[in-house]
This record gives sequence, structure tokens and C-alpha cells, in this order.
Amino acid sequence: MFDLRDLYQQVIVDHNKHPRNFGKLSRYNHEADGYNPLCGDRLHVYLDIDASGRIADVSFEGEGCAISMASASLMTEAMKGRSVEEMREVFDAFQRMVTDDLDALPDEERLGKLTVLAGVREFPSRIKCATLCWHTLKAAADDTAEVVKTE
Ligand code: ZN
Repeated sequence: MFDLRDLYQQVIVDHNKHPRNFGKLSRYNHEADGYNPLCGDRLHVYLDIDASGRIADVSFEGEGCAISMASASLMTEAMKGRSVEEMREVFDAFQRMVTDDLDALPDEERLGKLTVLAGVREFPSRIKCATLCWHTLKAAADDTAEVVKTE
């Protein structure tokens, strides 16, 4: 029987094995560090925001569990070309998705492919793995100097 969860699992495994936008950008004007002490995930996000407030480019470096890596990879893919305003909306929608009731439907219009991570809501200890990259991205956009910690 075809199980949608298998597809989700495949996307996460693929993004963990072959992370998109991994490495330092040659040109960037914002960056931030994120750390999830619960799991040991560490991320550094590079962000190039152009004069019109659009995310011209975004990348990440770091190491952590499959969920944290896949989430960061999917995030960079989804956020390239979006405005910082849109990024904040997607951040909120993502945060809601992973903390919502198990039977709540994710905001597919805003989240698109990111809905593959909806399953982490069943594993409360992994929610911070999935949201670390988003907190780090937001900190980069806000030029937060301190390391973002999920705890
Ligand atoms: Zn993790």
C-alpha cells in the first residue's frame, strides 16, 4: 500500500544526504548561529538580502541530526527569492504546523513542500530540531548577535 509517510520520509532522507544550499555564500550581508542543546544540532545561516528586502540568496552550514539538516535544506530552498515579510509569515505558519494538534491541517498555501515536516509534531523532542533553522534565519534577518538557542 502506498503510504504518504514513506514519501515524506524519502524527502527528509534525501535532503539530509544531499543538503541544498549547503556552504558559505560568496556574498552575504546577514548571518547567525543557532544551537539546539537538546539534540546537539548546530547551524550557521548566511543571508543575502537585497535593497528591496528580498532574500536574494540563503545558505547554511553546520551539523546535526537528519531532521535539523533536512529542515534547513528545505527552508533555504523555499525562502530563496521571497521577501523578508513573507519569510516571517512562513516562519509563523511552520511554527504552528509543528506544534499543532495531530489532526490539524498545515497551511499548505504558505508552506508548500515544507509540509513534509508536519510529522515531527508526533515527536515533541524533535520539534526543536525542525525549528532551529527557522529561528536562526530570523535571527540573521534581525542581525541578532547572540547564538540562538532553542532552550
Ligand atoms: Zn536534532
